[in-house]
Amino acid sequence: MISRLSFRGCNCYLIESEGKRYLVDTGTPGNLKRAREQIDSIDGIIITHGHYDHCGSAVEIADHFSCKIYAHRDEHPYLEGKADFKFEGFVGNFIKRLERLRPMEHFRAHDVESLNLNIVHLPGHTPGSIGIVVGKEMLCGDLLRVGRKYIMAGETVVKPSSRNFNWNQEKYIESLKRFAQLDVEVIHPGHGESVRIDRSLINEIIKRLER
Ligand SMILES: [Zn+2]
Ligand SMILES: [Zn+2]
Repeated sequence: MISRLSFRGCNCYLIESEGKRYLVDTGTPGNLKRAREQIDSIDGIIITHGHYDHCGSAVEIADHFSCKIYAHRDEHPYLEGKADFKFEGFVGNFIKRLERLRPMEHFRAHDVESLNLNIVHLPGHTPGSIGIVVGKEMLCGDLLRVGRKYIMAGETVVKPSSRNFNWNQEKYIESLKRFAQLDVEVIHPGHGESVRIDRSLINEIIKRLER
């Protein structure tokens, strides 16, 4: 079961599987109050990738619920503050400045692959980006975004993650190809609405990126 929570920074979800409840992503720093209002208990926190807007509140929420934080091992150096992500362009610089204003607390994570969940490693946006498959649905982190065709207007569209924020664009495209092979019908993205998705749509996005 997947439910969406209302946190600041990114979409955060609660998943229940085999009697365990996990919080997936935590938004920017300062979401503990929202977490306390919306969650009774959790068995752990899973981070889809180490960007500030997804793991900024991880430490405060983990401390409150006395639970562990899990992420892909390729992401661990970033979470521990031993490596830095790539942020380029106007928006990238803005994000960097925002992060300095309210820095997140770094932390040590446990290996997400030790959990009894269907975790798919999808490197590219960051080295240790993951998707979590629940039935035919997937929490896809920032692999894909859902938004409007134009700024604030137009039909709902599925968009690839910006090259300015992707750690490795080639690996990112490979991960999209891997994702297209999965039996997933609905995505729950880190930003935007949950939507139905089909292989032809993903293939179209891949084709556009490869041009
Ligand atoms: Zn991201
Ligand atoms: Zn994000």
